[in-house]
Amino acid sequence: MVGIEMPVTDPVKVAIVRKRVLEKLVCRKCGALNPPGATKCRRCKSKNLRPKHAERGMKK
Ligand SMILES: [Zn+2]
Repeated sequence: MVGIEMPVTDPVKVAIVRKRVLEKLVCRKCGALNPPGATKCRRCKSKNLRPKHAERGMKK
């Protein structure tokens, strides 16, 4: 059985998913998401990348 929209309730799986999100790099210039380990933005080739911190996603 394959559930496409199966909600993730298992804490272990949630942690894995969250970690994957955190490992992505966001371009400061154009906001594109880049794979972990990228040194340049795949869209604008800028090196101005920052790690995506979901925990810090709160608005001031
Ligand atoms: Zn970019």
